[in-house]
Amino acid sequence: MTSLPEFPSPGRLLRLAVRSIPAAAALATFIHLARGGFRGLQTLGWTEAALVGCLLVGIAVAAWRRAMRGAVGAVIDLRDDLELGGALISAAFVVVAIGGGDLFPIVYLLMAFLVAFLPRNAGLTLLGVALVFDALVTLGGPVPNPTGYLTHAAFLALFSGLYHLVLATRIAAARRAESDAVQKRIREVEERARTFRLVSSGTQDSFSGMSSDEKWLVASVKEIEGAVQAALEIAETGLRTYTCAAFLLTSDDRSLKLYDCRSGSERVQRERFNAGEGIIGGVLKRRAPVRMNSPNGLKGVTHYEGGGPTVQALLAVPILEASGLVRGVLVADRLTNEPFSDQDEKLLSTIAGEVLRSIEVERVMSYIRKTRDEKDRFFRAIEELNRAGSPDQVFVAVLESTRQLAGLDFCAVTLVSEVDGKRMHRVVRMSGVTAQGQALSGQSFEDNNGLVANVVRYGAPLPGRDIKAMDRQIIFDDETQIRGLGALKIFPLVAGDRILGTLVAGSRKKAAFEQDVLRMIEVIAIQAAQAVLRAQLFEQMERMATTDGLTGLFNHRTFQTKADEILAQARRYQRKCSVILTDVDHFKSVNDTYGHPTGDQVLKGVARIIKTMARDTDIVARYGGEEFVIIMPETDAKGAFTISERIREAVQAEVFQTEMGPLKITMSLGIATFPDSAMEKQQLIDLADQCLYHSKRNGRNQSVTVAIMQGGRKQLHAANAS
Ligand code: GH3
Ligand code: MG
Ligand code: MG
Repeated sequence: MTSLPEFPSPGRLLRLAVRSIPAAAALATFIHLARGGFRGLQTLGWTEAALVGCLLVGIAVAAWRRAMRGAVGAVIDLRDDLELGGALISAAFVVVAIGGGDLFPIVYLLMAFLVAFLPRNAGLTLLGVALVFDALVTLGGPVPNPTGYLTHAAFLALFSGLYHLVLATRIAAARRAESDAVQKRIREVEERARTFRLVSSGTQDSFSGMSSDEKWLVASVKEIEGAVQAALEIAETGLRTYTCAAFLLTSDDRSLKLYDCRSGSERVQRERFNAGEGIIGGVLKRRAPVRMNSPNGLKGVTHYEGGGPTVQALLAVPILEASGLVRGVLVADRLTNEPFSDQDEKLLSTIAGEVLRSIEVERVMSYIRKTRDEKDRFFRAIEELNRAGSPDQVFVAVLESTRQLAGLDFCAVTLVSEVDGKRMHRVVRMSGVTAQGQALSGQSFEDNNGLVANVVRYGAPLPGRDIKAMDRQIIFDDETQIRGLGALKIFPLVAGDRILGTLVAGSRKKAAFEQDVLRMIEVIAIQAAQAVLRAQLFEQMERMATTDGLTGLFNHRTFQTKADEILAQARRYQRKCSVILTDVDHFKSVNDTYGHPTGDQVLKGVARIIKTMARDTDIVARYGGEEFVIIMPETDAKGAFTISERIREAVQAEVFQTEMGPLKITMSLGIATFPDSAMEKQQLIDLADQCLYHSKRNGRNQSVTVAIMQGGRKQLHAANAS
């Protein structure tokens, strides 16, 4: 069963009627002209008036239709062009017919105009129409005029041809210029890419003062940064865009963020904006390009901040990974109503691929740069640790490097020690904390259940997991609280099988300790422990080399060096300086009576007394056996005598407790002063020794200066009295 064709609706019928006006009017006018109508003003009647009216309406309808189709970007077909052109030609012929042959150039001009602005096939058809029509009018009229027709035909062809030629040449030139510009940009980009590869292969060597690694990195990152700009520039030139911008999706896929753009506007969205809205939202959803245009300004344009320009044409292509994952969108727009073409879409899609490649490379580059920087800092830290000589230098290096590597806000080193069988923790150094925290530096606390103590106890980093109430954590002891920390990790300082202490690392940021940062601090802690151990051993060895094992005072060798230094100073600044030499009286008998170990105990006690009585600036050393020496900078004979007597009296007053009962001793002292008595070190010591001998010979248990020695006992009494 076949259905009857549907009867068109009244609206459709009206549209059909209106559409046919231009063609009908043109045709009717032609026919009337060919039949000899419009011959001078006197022939005009109602028919002519009606025809002219129809023709004007027809021109208006055709022009309006054409404009409308153009505005929405619809294709303007041959028929539209022919209708408008035909109506215009008819009108021109009417004018010529009424006004006389002198006005025929109007037709030439109209043809030139039509040929110039309409596509070639429409122009040629209309030229044919004009020629046929002229033939009908000129040759078919009451007085045929072949010469006139030929002239018209020749001029029509000439005008059309010339116009077409001129226009075609100009368009070709413009296209060539445009394509040259695009080609030039492509060449530039290729050149950059080539440089990039050359530099990256490490054969180029033009950045002096940088390691080859650095050159490579700097050059490649620069190139990558430039590549997207170059790609957008190509889009801008090639597509004649107002704005060409790449937006990338944020990690949650909800917003878009500007990656790079070239635009005539300052208002391109620089902040994040919703990725689900507007035309761009549609592109992301459908993962397909969109082309739109409207002379009144497009709706759903989201890539400008409020008050952005009126976009009339827009082309947006998704930035797609090979896997189909959408990374963002590339948007091109125009403020004029020039729709984007298939070709434009293809070009922009290619550029989207270029942008994707750049993002990828940039990501890898920044990763390399980041890890490389970290490695650099890390190795520098290790180096610093290895260079550090004293434990204190080690602590400084540890804190410095840990803080820099992990961007810490709080950092401390603690050491553990056994004092009288009791485990003690000492905060040897800390950095980057409040005044309350600084006061902690140098403080000791007993073993407890705090984190530091537990790290030492178990030899493992703590806390194991993120802690919520960070402020309530006991890091050192109950009294000490470090506030405001978001993340904390305490590492043991392990050297061999010994745990020397801890490295405390804290940050205000919650997410400060990523896995690789933790690993790095851990390695630093191992290195630090080794360095602390080494520094402690070194210090111990140094101490052993410079001090006397029994008394802890400087040994003879160190005394000699220190004496040289002090004398040099005294000489340079013309200051005085004294030497006291001491010898225990009848010490042999102490040994004989109480035994050598007791003798040693006594010597220790004497050393302690001398050390206490001497000033901080004085150098106290064991000169040998039961002899001690004191060098006193900035001290004259009188001052030295006073101190000497104080020492003597303190020794005399001391009761040494031994297994065989209490024991008392006395001591003789000899004093020599620079520059009064001697200029050279050895002379000075010899003089002090002579004074000491003088004391021994004159009853022992006394202090003798050079003056006393030379002036006899009388002066000794005088000096004692003063
Ligand atoms: P004088 O009053 O003349 O100094 O008599 P003195 O017995 O002290 O004689 P001298 O200074 O010559 O004696 C040194 C003695 O000191 C010899 C030695 O037994 C003793 N002595 C030296 N070094 C040590 C030591 O390290 N420990 C002990 N216990 N005794 C020492
Ligand atoms: Mg002696
Ligand atoms: Mg003695």
